[in-house]
Amino acid sequence: MFTQVELLPADPILGLIEAFNQDTNPSKIDLGVGVYRDELGNTPILKSVREAEALLLTRETTKKYIGSHGDPLFSQQMLPLVFGENSNVLAEKRATLTQAPGGTGALRLAADFIKRNSPEKTVWISNPTWPNHFAIFDAVGIQHKTYAYVDSDTNRLDFPALLADLKQIPQGDVVLLHACCHNPTGFDLSKEQWQEVLAVLKEGKLLPLIDFAYQGFGEGLDEDAAAVRLLAEELPEVMITSSCSKNFGLYRERIGAFIAVAKDTTDMEKVRSQMASVARANYSNPPAHGSAIVATILASQELNTLWRSEVDEMRNRINTLRQQFVVALTPYGLAEKFACVAEQRGMFSYSGLKPNEVAQLQKDFGIYMVSTGRMNIAGYNEQNLPYLCEAIASVCGK
Ligand code: PMP
Repeated sequence: MFTQVELLPADPILGLIEAFNQDTNPSKIDLGVGVYRDELGNTPILKSVREAEALLLTRETTKKYIGSHGDPLFSQQMLPLVFGENSNVLAEKRATLTQAPGGTGALRLAADFIKRNSPEKTVWISNPTWPNHFAIFDAVGIQHKTYAYVDSDTNRLDFPALLADLKQIPQGDVVLLHACCHNPTGFDLSKEQWQEVLAVLKEGKLLPLIDFAYQGFGEGLDEDAAAVRLLAEELPEVMITSSCSKNFGLYRERIGAFIAVAKDTTDMEKVRSQMASVARANYSNPPAHGSAIVATILASQELNTLWRSEVDEMRNRINTLRQQFVVALTPYGLAEKFACVAEQRGMFSYSGLKPNEVAQLQKDFGIYMVSTGRMNIAGYNEQNLPYLCEAIASVCGK
């Protein structure tokens, strides 16, 4: 059998990492890979995580399975983080959470759940999006189509086109929305725009699947949850996939959650029973270490406060770098062209750089980013910002 199988090309980002590692340019900058980096270019373990792990080492008494829904303490702590302390949805017992191996695992649970219960539904995904969205729905055999998101001429959010596309979606279909920090563009919807999206979802009886992978990286932990909370309060049914990879820096521990909001407790219990079955068929039980860390942090007042300050620090660093980027390009007459970078949110930025400019940045300056012009903002720092901007000015003919 093995002889007949097709050799697949490596993920383009992996190719980028390899090329970066082999580059001997001492000034090289990696803006490709999708992890947070500090001023020194490291992705350190958060202090709150280290302290929680130290506690767990002494407290943990068993390694037995934690059950298909995962750790109940994790669920108990995560739900208010996502919906807010005074959520009606929680008070009315309409939400259920199933722990998953990362946001990706949560998306896979969502995809399996849709396939099992409504295989005729199409999932509508923003163009562009995180490429794995397509792969996940392909893997379970669900049809997907795209809706407009960006005006490629101006490199801005194209809200009228987005709204027009959403209005064309057949009743009952699933719409995948990024709650905040849209990957790859960094363009988020305003409060008013979310209200308009809500009206279209209501009108078309559409089912939102909200990908919430960057809570705390945009404006703040509560601010970033505004769209999730709005849709959960206003619609009878909502699905949410949450990830703790970025905001807890727990990438490799694989911790996330699938959350469903139903119209009442009876429907919620039905969905919950389905999720247990879907999880069992995939991996039986989720890994326990990540959820134990998150639950320990959120349940401890001291660690919770420390963690919130660490999230603030990561977000502030990114947002400061965004401002500094535009300031540094001002002497080259490029402030207006790249003004969007200061307006975008999250780790990623559609810079508006064209593939040939990206290629030249890599070849002549050792600056690596995805060919679409997506930059990881956390990939540069105050020291190499002047070099980065000089290089960008050069490839833009300034
Ligand atoms: N959704 C989006 C939009 C993402 O960018 C990512 C991570 N790159 C994920 C989901 C999945 O994250 P995780 O590492 O938790 O699986």
